[in-house]
Amino acid sequence: MFDRFFPDDYKMSTYVIPFEQLYEEGYKGVIFDIDNTLVPHGAPADDRAKKLFTRLENIGFASCLISNNQEARVKMFNEEIQTNYIYNAHKPSTKNYKKAMEIMGTDETNTLFVGDQLFTDVWGAKRSGIHNILVKPMHPKEEIQIVLKRYLERVVLHFYKKKQKKRPSR
Ligand SMILES: [Mg+2]
Repeated sequence: MFDRFFPDDYKMSTYVIPFEQLYEEGYKGVIFDIDNTLVPHGAPADDRAKKLFTRLENIGFASCLISNNQEARVKMFNEEIQTNYIYNAHKPSTKNYKKAMEIMGTDETNTLFVGDQLFTDVWGAKRSGIHNILVKPMHPKEEIQIVLKRYLERVVLHFYKKKQKKRPSR
């Protein structure tokens, strides 16, 4: 019954995703959530984030940030990254996932999504038909409405992990 919320993939961190391999598999664009996906909530881009975007560019990936946060926060993160971005994105609405693909010149067959929230990030990506990767949130200190969603996420992930154990790992 929770299957419809399952992410396509689950990683301990954005920084362990094998982007080179995914590019080889045909993916050409990556849409990223920012907070708790690339950096802790509200933090500017750190060295690790900057290196990731340089790496993505070298691989040949187009990228776009989509955040439900306001412009000031997104701009601040993007200052030293200099990629495309969409703020106030209203995830899980699919509208801005589509806009991000338009900006990158990709479509749902060759776009990846990476985010830390199941019911906003991943749910929107799933309904947009985009291959989605859920990552473990970077920072445990979160707003109360997120804490409640985390509880529900844990329930879904419990069943997801149970299902993963039943099939051979890849
Ligand atoms: Mg997030």
